[in-house]
Amino acid sequence: MELNYYSDLAVRLVNSEQPDRGEDTLTSVDAVRELFGANSSTWRRATDADVGRLRAVRTRLRAVFAAASEGDEVRAVDLLNALLMEFPTSPQISGHGDLDSDGRPRWHMHLAEQPANATAAYAATACMGLAFHLTDLGVDRLGICQATPCRNAYLDTSTNRSRRYCSDRCATRANVAAYRARKRRESSTENPDTSDNATGAEGHTGAAGATDATDATDATGGAGAAGATGVAGATGAANATGAAGATGAAGATGAAGATAAAG
Ligand SMILES: [Zn+2]
Ligand SMILES: [Zn+2]
Repeated sequence: MELNYYSDLAVRLVNSEQPDRGEDTLTSVDAVRELFGANSSTWRRATDADVGRLRAVRTRLRAVFAAASEGDEVRAVDLLNALLMEFPTSPQISGHGDLDSDGRPRWHMHLAEQPANATAAYAATACMGLAFHLTDLGVDRLGICQATPCRNAYLDTSTNRSRRYCSDRCATRANVAAYRARKRRESSTENPDTSDNATGAEGHTGAAGATDATDATDATGGAGAAGATGVAGATGAANATGAAGATGAAGATGAAGATAAAG
């Protein structure tokens, strides 16, 4: 069974739309034929009516991926079962008149040989492929890309079931965005304190990824208190006050600055 190819039809249909970007490529009968692919025997049957029909199937298939992505396996299965009932398969073995190097036909399955229309053929094949994928590999293998605003569907075939993005491109984009957000947070908490941190604070400010608790422990050493407040939030400020001695005044000022920046 051409499992991956058939389940990929479901992914391709869902991803013909980017709802959060307001983009839709499924707008004409040519787009329908492109979706079906040049090798498909049903693409010739596509008409203008298939644009609307396929969009309706697309909405329902997206709901299957969304439910799976949210961990609602029962809902994902129920939604897919409803589609399987509505778009039944009528399997036939086909050779397409296409021969291999030994002159034998390349036998393969056509899942919907006598469909009511081109959409029915596409939907039956896509849903059956997805059903086999889901029962073989698990409902948690269906996902929606987490790199906002991309909402592409994907099938996770990684060995550790760790996939969260539709593509390497989205994974890179999400990593860059997370890195920039982290940098922004760091600079917004460091900048107000730069004057307070003048003495020996660099070591602590450099360890910005460390937790408040760790910084507070380091801070009890004494002079480091000002540096610790440079990266700490409200909790860090409380710890700094606790650790303050003669240099407590400088530490307190640093803490106030940090709190203001965090707000
Ligand atoms: Zn065929
Ligand atoms: Zn994506």
